[in-house]
Amino acid sequence: MTELLSLPHTPEIWQQTLNWQPNEQQWQQFQHLYDCVLEGNKRFNLTRITDPLDFLEKHLWDSLAGLMLTDTLKRDEAYKVMDIGTGAGFPGLPTAIVCPEWTVTLLDSTRKKIDFLVTVLQALALRNGKTLLGRSEVMGRDRRNREKFDLALIRAVGEASVCAEYSLPLLKLGGLAILYRGHWTEEDTEKFLPSLAELGGTLEQIKTIETPWSQGIRNFIYLRKIQPTPSSYPRATGIPTQKPL
Ligand code: SAM
Repeated sequence: MTELLSLPHTPEIWQQTLNWQPNEQQWQQFQHLYDCVLEGNKRFNLTRITDPLDFLEKHLWDSLAGLMLTDTLKRDEAYKVMDIGTGAGFPGLPTAIVCPEWTVTLLDSTRKKIDFLVTVLQALALRNGKTLLGRSEVMGRDRRNREKFDLALIRAVGEASVCAEYSLPLLKLGGLAILYRGHWTEEDTEKFLPSLAELGGTLEQIKTIETPWSQGIRNFIYLRKIQPTPSSYPRATGIPTQKPL
């Protein structure tokens, strides 16, 4: 058994930075999720972020910052959400905890990550979470998934144009993708815009924020799907990363 570690409870920091704070039940679920990840890490080698404060900031706070910093999302609507390349469940699991009306699909191409996520959904009794094993390039062409999602989340999966090629085909027209990035410059935007337009998307907003505990820089890139993505996208497995748009 791992010795249980407690997450630092600092509601005022959540409130100051995100204008939101977890309620008691959500807070208990965060702690339960942390326990599951520490336990799962022994078998699955899931994440190097295990220190309580690091976990709080880099997994929980960061996952939710992407949602809380835009006012275009409605937490009480029945959105269908896809977390692409979710790994140990970020940002998808904190999203499912905080937005019980949303249905969150956790997609990853690695079986051991999906096996772990199945156990977490059960342990946390998260009925609005689902897992999906596979590649986003395949899912984006599958008619059960293409154009079926209101929101796509994608963190630490690849460069921006790759993330756009993975996420935009999955979105309904009018849907939103949130790219979780570290540093982001105006040159990055200039370079990104042509591929985004090619995929049917537009850049709606960029939010830059300093993380509250370690003062890292985070950028959340909000993409709106304004036109259908051409049927030639996503390209075959591996091509988006080998030949980014
Ligand atoms: N999003 C998580 C996070 O930020 O903690 C995990 C990031 S991890 C660096 C990238 C994950 O994306 C891995 O679990 C990998 O298996 C998955 N992945 C990479 N490319 C993928 C693809 N094309 N389709 C589905 N999963 C993919």
